[in-house]
Amino acid sequence: MQGIEIKSLLLGDEPLSFLLEVLLRSVIMFCFILTALRTSGKRGIKQLSIFELVIIIGLGSAAGDPMFYKDVGIIPAVIVFIVVVGLYRAVTWLSGKYLPFEQLIEGKPIYLIRNGKFSIEDFDKEDLSQDEFFAELRITNVEHLGQVRNAIIETSGAISLLYYEDKDVKPGLPLYPDLYLKKSVEIYHPGLHACAYCGNTEEVNEPKTCSVCKRKEWVLAIKTLRRT
Ligand SMILES: [Zn+2]
Repeated sequence: MQGIEIKSLLLGDEPLSFLLEVLLRSVIMFCFILTALRTSGKRGIKQLSIFELVIIIGLGSAAGDPMFYKDVGIIPAVIVFIVVVGLYRAVTWLSGKYLPFEQLIEGKPIYLIRNGKFSIEDFDKEDLSQDEFFAELRITNVEHLGQVRNAIIETSGAISLLYYEDKDVKPGLPLYPDLYLKKSVEIYHPGLHACAYCGNTEEVNEPKTCSVCKRKEWVLAIKTLRRT
């Protein structure tokens, strides 16, 4: 029986001197990646659109492999970089010129809440769960849906919000679990309720279906003001 060979585990099939080459290769590729990303015209990366993710995946292997694979040369990787960054710049330029092209590549911003109304159809089309959306709202100190005038999901996946001024805040669906999870079909305290699914508010005195989404679970609406 043959034990694990420590040398091949640590070094692979390469001689010790290859480590020096890896060092050199890594420095060259590092400089090259930095130059390529700086010339891409992008300032920083907060959230990637799908298109940008494709670029990153495309560059990833081209950037890393030449660092430590002896039989991968640096020039092919450089060509990959020039082509991908060139395409990125071309597509970005075209997107800036032609809106339909931009929407094709990046998608378009979608209203999740418009004038205080939840747009369920658009919401269902997005790959965003209600939980995630509520969490996003809570992070920006939104306590209930009646505080939000407009919410848009951007192509990057970020959510932009416009709030009602204090005097215009309406009673709405509470977003914090302590209150939200009290949602029920039974009505214990007659009064203004918010539909647990679509946020529609109605006077509810006995069990009934939501006039907007036809679901049956309600939460007592609250009307607190937003604290920043
Ligand atoms: Zn509803």
